[in-house]
Amino acid sequence: MKKLLLFSLFIFVILSNSFAQSQPYVLLVSFDGFKWDYLNRGLTPNLNEIANNGVRALALKPVFPSKTFPNHLSIITGMYPENHGIIANHFENPFTGEVYKVAKNSKSVKQSKWYLGEAFWTTAKRNNIITASYFWPGSELELDYRRPDYYKPYEHNKPYIARIDGVIDWLQLPQAERPHFITLYFHETDSYGHGYGPNSSEVNKAISLLDSMTGYLTSKLKEIGMIDSVNIIFVSDHGMTEISTEKTVNIEKILNGFKYKMGGEKPFVMIDPENKNDIELIYQTLKKHDNHFKVYKKEDLPEYFHYSRHPFISPIILIADLGWSLVNDKWLERFKRNKSKGNHGYANYEMDMHGIFIASGPAFKKGLKTGTLQNIDIYPLLCKIFNIQPRSNIDGKLERIGFILK
Ligand code: AMP
Ligand code: ZN
Ligand code: ZN
Repeated sequence: MKKLLLFSLFIFVILSNSFAQSQPYVLLVSFDGFKWDYLNRGLTPNLNEIANNGVRALALKPVFPSKTFPNHLSIITGMYPENHGIIANHFENPFTGEVYKVAKNSKSVKQSKWYLGEAFWTTAKRNNIITASYFWPGSELELDYRRPDYYKPYEHNKPYIARIDGVIDWLQLPQAERPHFITLYFHETDSYGHGYGPNSSEVNKAISLLDSMTGYLTSKLKEIGMIDSVNIIFVSDHGMTEISTEKTVNIEKILNGFKYKMGGEKPFVMIDPENKNDIELIYQTLKKHDNHFKVYKKEDLPEYFHYSRHPFISPIILIADLGWSLVNDKWLERFKRNKSKGNHGYANYEMDMHGIFIASGPAFKKGLKTGTLQNIDIYPLLCKIFNIQPRSNIDGKLERIGFILK
């Protein structure tokens, strides 16, 4: 009996090891705010070489609003923000007054209750695939079954080399502990894009730095003998456009005398009237002054934004024209002080808001150049690569992206 038990255990170990060995490897790398045309500046030899050996899309279309957290969550869940719940980097539950906020030491980014979608690492866990994350929005949830198996609390100043070395260490773990899906994140192009604008020499330096990090990553993958077995996907969450304090519309001045809460950020704003009977009058007042922005009642927002079904979205939504900023007195003062030169968050059909998509490895076609892809389709693409079932309630569609696979 004991012998039989030992034999069964032996077979189980052999089978699970060979199952793990047969699983593909996918490394999903995000370059925050890396606008689609940054690849055309002659500054990215490493990324371009990877693109030439694999798939390169003209651009990657973000979801609305074209902000960091909504988009990273859409990439990892395959859902629009109205369905995955992270409708902005900063928003309020109007029923309880609780606030979700991306900020240093923010508790809310870890609270599972805001996140309504299933991230790929949870789908993977149900399918016995080990996952890891060297940073990704939504990777630190307090419920352990909703986190990657290995994850790092976000540290903005963590050196980039250390992040890559961390990933390489994970890939050298013993087979039974080794993650097969890993995310990696770099903020460089977003930070310099905000500070100096997308056409600055500072952004060009940030692009070059991320390209050299790409070179470092591939050289390390070669060193550990995994360059031919790892599928790498480079994405960005959104692009960037030039802004200036000359192009502002002060909403507080237009709505003088009304009582309301103003949420969102400069490229898009949500207005929540204190008295619901004021919705129509506030809407009509904004409509009369809609120079350089568009105003919608939540239920009338065009379908293509996919941004009306979440209960925390305010009754009135304003979207600034590209390059314009919607402000109140406080925001305007801050804007004049920090003199930021670039921003994103605008309508997601604006090409300036589009990011990049490059993929290479055993799962991908070689030398394929294709048109714009949508970031919500990446989750079903990941499921296809791992040959597992995606959730049925997603917005992403494999039909739109599957052709990039071999
Ligand atoms: P934004 O440009 O406002 O959409 O957001 C970009 C910023 O989000 C970055 O500069 C980071 O500081 C921050 N960020 C990115 N990933 C995370 C994360 N996983 N946790 C907390 N903050 C993050
Ligand atoms: Zn971003
Ligand atoms: Zn940003």
